[in-house]
Amino acid sequence: MSATRRDFVIGAAALAAVPVSAGAAGRRRRVGVVGGGIIGASVAFQLARAGAEVILFEREAPAARATRASVAWINPVVNDAAYMRLRLESMRAWREDDRALGMNAIWGGSISWAYPDKEEALRAKAAVLQHTDDPPRALTSRQITEVSRGIHAGDDVAFAFETRRDGHVDPVQATRRYLAAAKKLGARILYPCEVEGIVVASGRMTHVETSRGRWALDDIVSVAGVDTPRIMAMMDRTLELAHKPGLVVHTEARPVVTDKVFEASSVIEFKQYADGRFLTSLTGGPPELPVHAAIRQQRAAFPDDELRRRHGQMLIDQTATYLPAMAGTRPAQVLLGFRPYPLDNRPICGPVPGVEGAYLVVTHSGLTLAPILGRYVAQEIMEKTPAALLTPYRPSRFMKV
Ligand SMILES: Cc1cc2nc3c(=O)[nH]c(=O)nc-3n(C[C@H](O)[C@H](O)[C@H](O)COP(=O)(O)OP(=O)(O)OC[C@H]3O[C@@H](n4cnc5c(N)ncnc54)[C@H](O)[C@@H]3O)c2cc1C
Repeated sequence: MSATRRDFVIGAAALAAVPVSAGAAGRRRRVGVVGGGIIGASVAFQLARAGAEVILFEREAPAARATRASVAWINPVVNDAAYMRLRLESMRAWREDDRALGMNAIWGGSISWAYPDKEEALRAKAAVLQHTDDPPRALTSRQITEVSRGIHAGDDVAFAFETRRDGHVDPVQATRRYLAAAKKLGARILYPCEVEGIVVASGRMTHVETSRGRWALDDIVSVAGVDTPRIMAMMDRTLELAHKPGLVVHTEARPVVTDKVFEASSVIEFKQYADGRFLTSLTGGPPELPVHAAIRQQRAAFPDDELRRRHGQMLIDQTATYLPAMAGTRPAQVLLGFRPYPLDNRPICGPVPGVEGAYLVVTHSGLTLAPILGRYVAQEIMEKTPAALLTPYRPSRFMKV
């Protein structure tokens, strides 16, 4: 592997120089990225920074799937110290990317509260957060309203806490920023362009077949979200994901009242963008009603626009009981999203077992994790140096050769 050093200037910010890794016959490594969501975009950017010749294949449009429907809350909160470390690393990387690429992230912190049935779970999360540099501050219901005027969590709050370092972004805008930066570094971003087949010869990936022809590659990175099992099947590999739908509603704009993300007893998450749009989300998926049977089992769309609008309005009205400033707004966008969700709710990131030159990333919390995964994937492919923090998350725990 030959190595030279280059400096890149993106917008106003200078990004650190990184080594350049060569493909066959001394030319640059040609790396294909399948998927133009937030993680694919971050991976493409970091690979381009590391000197790869990057071609990103996106079937529809940038951020068309899970990324577009995301709440995009950047947070470390999980009940697992090792996984939390990875998320905290990513939050540091987020700050760098925000500064360098102008992501317009809002770093206003967050407030989570639980009613009695969810108290224990929230206390467990707070306990893990104690050992970070942003320990949670416990709040009463009255203090929630003092800290964030206009929020009414109700008298039956059993436990609540505030964090100060969490942030949130517009996920579509952030994806576009990564892709624009990758393009400046020479990456080709192809859409609509569907990967339809992957050629593997003698255990090595050699080409992809796409709706825009066949491309010879040194490496391929699958970042295809819920379609990952299909991409793996193209290489004769089996991967199962969980089915986790979520409803996300954007409202029309109103005067800005908050810069925080709120989590109401693990049922509703809501926030407000700098342009005044509110976002609210039903995090637990569709309620267990006979009418939701299909959507609880498979990906589906709303049968008609009226039902879509009614679901949007119901969620807005429910959220307005906590945040009256939202009352009377109408749904501007109602999105049914499907989370790329590994069976153990931990990232899957690393080489595809038994297929040289093939790499896989699929995870929930991808808005939080995109910056660090981009860096580590580029490091592992271009420098061949394993990232220690990724050790627990290798694909081999689900896929055997
Ligand atoms: C309702 C909801 C709320 C969420 N809230 C949060 C949150 O608050 N914080 C957080 O961190 N995360 C959150 N997430 C999770 C986060 O959005 C995802 O983990 C993240 O968007 C995954 O990004 P991705 O790039 O891997 O996948 P995606 O955004 O799904 O992108 C995959 C892309 O691959 C493309 N593709 C698929 N097959 C092919 C093919 N054959 N050829 C070419 N292209 C292909 C698709 O068109 C798609 O654009 C949420 C998700 C949902 C649905």
